[in-house]
Amino acid sequence: MTIAVLALQGAFKEHIDKLNELNIESFEIRQAADLTRHFDGLILPGGESTVQGKLLRELGIFEDLQKKIQEGLPVYGTCAGLLLLAKDIENDSRRHLALMDITANRNAYGRQLGSFYIESDFKGIGKIPMTFIRAPYIERVGESVEILAEVDGKIVAAREKNMLVTAFHPELSGNFLGGYSGTKEQNLAVHKYFSDMISL
Ligand code: GLN
Repeated sequence: MTIAVLALQGAFKEHIDKLNELNIESFEIRQAADLTRHFDGLILPGGESTVQGKLLRELGIFEDLQKKIQEGLPVYGTCAGLLLLAKDIENDSRRHLALMDITANRNAYGRQLGSFYIESDFKGIGKIPMTFIRAPYIERVGESVEILAEVDGKIVAAREKNMLVTAFHPELSGNFLGGYSGTKEQNLAVHKYFSDMISL
């Protein structure tokens, strides 16, 4: 199995590290030509959704990527990646790939509470570490969307068919400033969940 990681901006390296730990092959998507390589799944990393959306268009990647996901390519969006996939964003006039039937609330926790860490339940996995950095949350989900995690009554992880999103950053679990960490299994759990989505 090979998973491509969008590497235009943001925390892509940390995703590749997690895939390496799971012995999953990966490569970075930096330009349109990279899309011609074979891959079974795609990770859209955290960062700045506005910058990433703009770069996707400028580099001529946007439409091909959108089409691949529409045709069923498994995709996992973290934080800014969640915003790229959301059909609707409550407090942003921009829309990006707009494929997943959710409404996201951008920078929803405000400036002061923008970044925090907790351990909370993820459906089918149990408690895992969750690192939030100026994160969005999901305000509305469509009928075909399964809610996978909620924190303080706010939806922070969900799945619709081939699309998985988390508002938090599992790629930082175990290496965030060398601190926050669960067990090895907990730190790899969401990436493992995504690889199961691809292979099952
Ligand atoms: N606040 C960022 C955005 O709006 C997302 C933050 C993140 O990816 N850590 O795109």
